[in-house]
Amino acid sequence: MMYEADSSSVSPGAGRSQSPDRAKQVTHPVVALPGDGVGPEVMRAAMSVLDEAGASIDWRICDAGANVFRDGIASGVPDKTLDAIENAGVVLKGPLETPVGFGEKSANVTLRKIFELYANVRPVRALPGIATPFSGRNIDFVVVRENVEDLYAGIEHMQTPDVAQCLKLISRKGSEKIARFAFALAQAEGRHKVECATKANIMKLTEGLFKSTFESVAADFPEFEAGHLVVDNCAHKMVVAPESFDVVVTTNMNGDILSDLAAGLVGGLGLAPSANLGRQVAMFEAVHGSAPDIAGQGLANPTALLLSAVMMMRHIGQQEVADVVENALYCTLEDGTHLTADIARDAESVGTAAFTGAVIDNFGRSSRHLENRTYAPLQIPDAVHGPLGEVTREMAGVDVFIEWKGNADALGQSLETAVFASGFRLSMISNRGTKVYPGRTGHTDTVNHWRCRFAWTDRDRSCTDADIRDLLTRIGDIHRWMHVEKLQHFDGTAGFTLAQGENQ
Ligand code: NAD
Repeated sequence: MMYEADSSSVSPGAGRSQSPDRAKQVTHPVVALPGDGVGPEVMRAAMSVLDEAGASIDWRICDAGANVFRDGIASGVPDKTLDAIENAGVVLKGPLETPVGFGEKSANVTLRKIFELYANVRPVRALPGIATPFSGRNIDFVVVRENVEDLYAGIEHMQTPDVAQCLKLISRKGSEKIARFAFALAQAEGRHKVECATKANIMKLTEGLFKSTFESVAADFPEFEAGHLVVDNCAHKMVVAPESFDVVVTTNMNGDILSDLAAGLVGGLGLAPSANLGRQVAMFEAVHGSAPDIAGQGLANPTALLLSAVMMMRHIGQQEVADVVENALYCTLEDGTHLTADIARDAESVGTAAFTGAVIDNFGRSSRHLENRTYAPLQIPDAVHGPLGEVTREMAGVDVFIEWKGNADALGQSLETAVFASGFRLSMISNRGTKVYPGRTGHTDTVNHWRCRFAWTDRDRSCTDADIRDLLTRIGDIHRWMHVEKLQHFDGTAGFTLAQGENQ
């Protein structure tokens, strides 16, 4: 169903004389995706506010989300919408649902991946009139989340009927792009500190690559304070000292969690805006979902989408409109007399339309709480270091993942017999990440998924793919294997980690 913009739900006649002169601005095409649940309600509010504020926008309203899935389009986004986004380059988006039983992938993730919207930007700023345990702490920072890679690559397999695997992919290029983006954002907003949050202490190769890439990019920006935090410590510090943060850049999964935590510091998801940025396309959306519990009742708070729309106006260079809307929204919250139920607390609440009308009525007022930041145009950076040049590589062996219902000793002995005189030696078996064969083992509660590591032992020649095929044939004759991973050294450095207890 196509969404129809309906400004009749907004209080008429408010503040239009304060609006900047439309004639001075270049009209920018924007695709509006009203989405599902409360989406059309908050989208109507945001479009009305922008139009009344004098935004020069050529709105192109398109479909995505639940109805599209129900129509049989598995991505949740029809080609017509993708074409419109390609042409306009800017999207204001409502929440999209993936209805149960339709489609494998979320339409949100589809949009982020198709348009390589690699930077998810979530500003975290205390709002006036919104009392939280953190009020008065001067919270004002930005979480920059890598938006494409990591566990969200969506590559999952059931390796046995009882054991699932999700691949965590981190690339040097993706890490460099997001690190450069974080510094570019810090430059554009006049911020001074950029911190990287990872779990590199545990995931030494994946999160470690993100951390080391950040550190090499940071060296190009000596004017900024730069540092690293272990992500769990970062979460703790965000609660005990949120005012200490300025820009935090992090991997996709960490960022998903940290940014919701951060939104909670300043009043919750209903107030949290975001931008998804790439080189060609920028998509702005509220962090919240479709709120099915209040959908269709005219109760939704449009603040999060309005703040996202303010970010969009700055992105398309209509700074004056952004300032008018942001100030009016802040004044509405400060006044505290026209608040939606989610933020009104004990006071009487109003619906979406009345809140929106109050914002429009406040056009031209300046908020005493809005310390205006300078927003210079943000140049979306690309990776400049590129992939590593020529590296030497040497195959040290393979990990073969085997499904087996017996115990470690029986598996180990059968594999040692199978690989006899093959050039490979069974160096160890691990289960759930802990070494269980040979030698001293722990109390591992084993499952039917065994990682069997074979080291190449022939010093007279290198290990080849033919050797691996021969190994798999030998193993396959007696066991069910499901996955093989080469163990490689790049420029003499091991490109694989040890199992817990492997070096004992
Ligand atoms: P939700 O954010 O929709 O709702 C959580 C709670 O917050 C509910 O009580 C809701 O009433 C309230 N809430 C949310 N937005 C509000 C607003 N603007 N005003 C007042 N109250 C508001 O989270 P959920 O219930 O977990 O998800 C519902 C659906 O939305 C799911 O299908 C989910 O997949 C989808 N979703 C989409 C996006 C997106 O499109 N980016 C994000 C999150 C969830």
